[in-house]
Amino acid sequence: MTQDRPKESCGVFGIFGHPQAAELAYLGLFALQHRGQESAGIVTADGRRLYSHCDAGLVADVFHDHSVFAALHGTTAVGHVRYSTTGSSSALNIQPLVVTTKDGTLAVAHNGNLTNAQELHRQLSAEGAIFQTSSDTELTVHLVARSHQKSLTARIRDALEQVTGAYSLLFLSPDRLIGARDPHGFRPLVIGKKGEAVMVASETCAFDLTGASYVRDIEPGEILEIDANGQHSVRFGESKLSQCIFELIYFARPDSCIWGEPVYRSRRRFGERLAQEAPVPADMVMAVPDSSNTAAVGYAHASGIRFDIGLIRNHYIGRTFINPSQFMRAFNTRIKYNTVADVLEGQRVVLVEDSIVRGTTLKKLVGLLRHAGVREIHVRVSSPPIRHPCFYGMDFPTRKELIAAWNSEEEIRRFLQVDSLHYLSLDGLLQCAPGNSRDFCTACFSGNYPVPIPPNEGRALAEETGESWAQMELERLLGGLT
Ligand code: SF4
Repeated sequence: MTQDRPKESCGVFGIFGHPQAAELAYLGLFALQHRGQESAGIVTADGRRLYSHCDAGLVADVFHDHSVFAALHGTTAVGHVRYSTTGSSSALNIQPLVVTTKDGTLAVAHNGNLTNAQELHRQLSAEGAIFQTSSDTELTVHLVARSHQKSLTARIRDALEQVTGAYSLLFLSPDRLIGARDPHGFRPLVIGKKGEAVMVASETCAFDLTGASYVRDIEPGEILEIDANGQHSVRFGESKLSQCIFELIYFARPDSCIWGEPVYRSRRRFGERLAQEAPVPADMVMAVPDSSNTAAVGYAHASGIRFDIGLIRNHYIGRTFINPSQFMRAFNTRIKYNTVADVLEGQRVVLVEDSIVRGTTLKKLVGLLRHAGVREIHVRVSSPPIRHPCFYGMDFPTRKELIAAWNSEEEIRRFLQVDSLHYLSLDGLLQCAPGNSRDFCTACFSGNYPVPIPPNEGRALAEETGESWAQMELERLLGGLT
């Protein structure tokens, strides 16, 4: 059940210059919990050294003993919530990673995926590097440690010029906080202010909770250094925007503001556009809660059909049922969702879902709705069909497991056993997204990867699809030119 949703990559939070830095980092991570539930950690700095507390579990579990804050000294902190997209979920991979280099101690927190990680790993290993983790994040600190530049920011710049892919990174040394965003700007990274303190976070919802105000985004290809002398920016790489459009569809919280607009507003427009592209006579519009709620409100508004709540999601499951026994697995859908039979009986419903990965969860929900006496089910998806895996930090299954990679819309409709099925068009999606439509990555829908994917992955993909690797590369290049 849980494996049938795209998984968020990670969330990062940093603060410089506040006496309660660790507590504010804790609150910030709370707000970013949706971006990763496997582990959480905070590292603080007091000008002389770093202090760390990290563990597996949700933020509330990792910091349930509040006495840990007394040991997190200092006025500067970085925090991280993790979902493992590369590297296993082993304890060694929990972030922020803390390393000791010839130039001092450094902590790093990463959101995204490096696409040349295998190649760099091979190269560094051949030169004698020893790795403590299996995550791509450690590569960045190896490269920082090897740089011969004088300042930490210059060494970070040196390192980032050697990596490709998606990264929003926070580095913490004993006396400074440094944020960096890849030149494509795949993942969001925003700056906030609370009094004299400066914050950096994956999403603005972290500022709302901590009482900070949004200042601006860290720009793609920008390294922002914050220390006792103020803030200094340096630029690196050639900036070519490829913001992840899935952040707007599903990943980011609707109460966050990313890329210059509240996520709620974009998500609602996707639903409105879907109603225009795929209208259907019905008695009510409902959402697969909670991530599809906003698009469903948009669909209802544009269609004039009443919005109602037909499914209730249980928010208190925790991680208990992620690997249940076969006996318990039979209860998976019921544990997470229940129907409101009184609302549903005899109704023709438009069921709005933000995305379909394998389709197995949605099929089970359709079964629940039928059982509750629904007369007709019309599924409307507020994103285009997902046909390609993501190599930039989102954990979709392999292409083999993506239902839309191998099945037509009609075949998926029959699999789901619904009366009709329609996806939002890619053009419609891009027209509803804020800013310039060319500034977004849409690779999981279009297959046009803005940064070359790892050669091994590409070959595996070609084998899965039966296409030649050369042909796929050619298509990618042509895609990049259009
Ligand atoms: S491939 Fe899809 S999920 Fe991955 S970065 Fe691009 S738009 Fe986002």
